[in-house]
Amino acid sequence: MIRVAFYDTKAYDRPSFEEYGKQAGLDLRFFETKLNADTADLAKGCEVVCVFVNDTVDSEVIEKLYGLGVRLIALRCAGYNNVDVRAAYGKIHVVHVPAYSPYSVAEHAMALLLTSVRRIHKAYNRTREFNFSLNGLTGFDLHGKTVGVVGTGKIGRIFAGICRGFGMRVIGYDMFPAADSGIEYTDLDTLLRESDIISLHCPLTEDTRHMIGAEAIGKMKKGVVIVNTSRGALIDAEALLDGIRARKVGAACLDVYEEEADIFFEDRSGHILNDELLARLISMPNVIVTSHQAFLTEEALGNIAETTVRNILSFYEDDGLCDNELCYRCGHIEQCRKQRKEKCF
Ligand code: NAD
Repeated sequence: MIRVAFYDTKAYDRPSFEEYGKQAGLDLRFFETKLNADTADLAKGCEVVCVFVNDTVDSEVIEKLYGLGVRLIALRCAGYNNVDVRAAYGKIHVVHVPAYSPYSVAEHAMALLLTSVRRIHKAYNRTREFNFSLNGLTGFDLHGKTVGVVGTGKIGRIFAGICRGFGMRVIGYDMFPAADSGIEYTDLDTLLRESDIISLHCPLTEDTRHMIGAEAIGKMKKGVVIVNTSRGALIDAEALLDGIRARKVGAACLDVYEEEADIFFEDRSGHILNDELLARLISMPNVIVTSHQAFLTEEALGNIAETTVRNILSFYEDDGLCDNELCYRCGHIEQCRKQRKEKCF
């Protein structure tokens, strides 16, 4: 029986993983703690660890896991910026779930945007207290506005389609523009200058870290709305706060935050929030924060569990060949993954 150490377990993970794991005959050991150098030993006796976005899988953790006999890291998410794939190469194979429901994230991005520009969050609180005043709730039409989509992969393209449905002009920036997407591509500077709304859908890499910083915000339109459902560190949060205080940024919709790892996914009510920057952002009337919730739909959870279990089985049953392996063999994971039809090492 394949033993799997399942880190950072939440109540919403268990039902779908228990169902698919049982069908596949996996021995799933659920731990609520996150994976890091102090908790790696919990994986003793397991061949596989299953991790999520805020587990730490750096070179130290990888060495420990390798020493314990772990041979597969199964990410139950798409993004893999928290895994040192280079350090894992030659020791532990890494698989992920490239797509589980891009609709869940794209629809959440639009939900945040609509909530913000139509002040739904304020109206909801008001009417609960029988305050039916409309003062301060004036929004603006999305129809006719320009939305800049940064990263036009699976999620970015679905978000672009939703925006077109609202009668918006969509422009896009991507390192690898997709010829068949129907999106009008621009360079990043043009996108920053021309967009009324900017939505981030590219991965976090060394190139994209803090791509939205003081300089980028300086190029944007006054009153721009920034939506980030991708990864927190795409935005320099200090610079964002400065832009909001200077009235340059009209609103920010954040499902992710650079320092979210020890904060998001937990009930911190009743505690003093130790992150001043996040507290100041949340206190702004034009900032909406959700705690990395964009993926959280029934459809996505089922697909995540099914694909993760299939990834693990194919590693053991199909000579280790798994379409969803993150291969570092040539040092270019994205391109490599698209061409490779063999095991990474
Ligand atoms: P994808 O791989 O299909 O698309 C990413 C796109 O970004 C690709 O077209 C790629 O060419 C482009 N890109 C790469 N580097 C770039 C750069 N430097 N500048 C501009 N574009 C660049 O990925 P996806 O499934 O659409 O997911 C996008 C991101 O959404 C993921 O990386 C992940 O971080 C995030 N995500 C968040 C949640 C959530 O719950 N908030 C859930 C799933 C995914």
